[in-house]
Amino acid sequence: MINVAIDGPAGAGKSTIARTAAQALGYIYVDTGALYRAVGVYSLRRGFDTKNADTVAGTLSDICVELKFIGGVQHVFLNGEDVSEEIRTPEASMAASDVSAVPAVRQFLFDLQRNIAKQNDCIMDGRDIGTVVLPQAEVKIFLTASPEARAMRRYRELQAKGAADTFEEVLADLKQRDYNDSHRAVAPLKPAEDSILVDTTELNLEESVKKVIAVIQERITD
Ligand code: C5P
Repeated sequence: MINVAIDGPAGAGKSTIARTAAQALGYIYVDTGALYRAVGVYSLRRGFDTKNADTVAGTLSDICVELKFIGGVQHVFLNGEDVSEEIRTPEASMAASDVSAVPAVRQFLFDLQRNIAKQNDCIMDGRDIGTVVLPQAEVKIFLTASPEARAMRRYRELQAKGAADTFEEVLADLKQRDYNDSHRAVAPLKPAEDSILVDTTELNLEESVKKVIAVIQERITD
């Protein structure tokens, strides 16, 4: 199986770029952030403090998270319910960032991610795919862009959905998540030593996808 790991901070365009590249290459696309978001949504729904590691870890035995690929599109299920929409709110983003710092949560989601990669040619995106989940991946890409460019993309997405968040709020949230993700003790966001850096600050979507596909093709035909 060919496994491609794409890691990077929030808003670098990972999911859109990875999804499009996967389609072009005939691989499945796995968005691992959705798993952390589903765990975050569970805590939010139950009214738990998502920053309390003991509380969050204690709920894991009540949770079943699954990924299903329906018509090639990933859906995430929380205890049998499709929560693919609900996990996309700004509250779910922050909750995901909180719960992802809990080692038990990372362990809980580890096998699920590994098993998908074992059984499928895939592009998997996240924060620790090249460093922890798939250290043997054939291709590792670290996708990034400036915080302002990333916040502007997120802001436009939220606006298109009719959300009222201001650009400043989106930028502040994103910087907070960047900080959390790269400073946590377990599996912090950082480029794998053998990853290829792709900076999309000056690239539009089409250019970014082209670049990523070129990097993958170059590596797998080596
Ligand atoms: O990629 P996305 O923004 O959906 O991820 C939501 C949150 O889940 C991130 O801010 C990060 O804290 C966490 N995450 C992670 N490891 C991954 C994927 C996501 O810690 N592999």
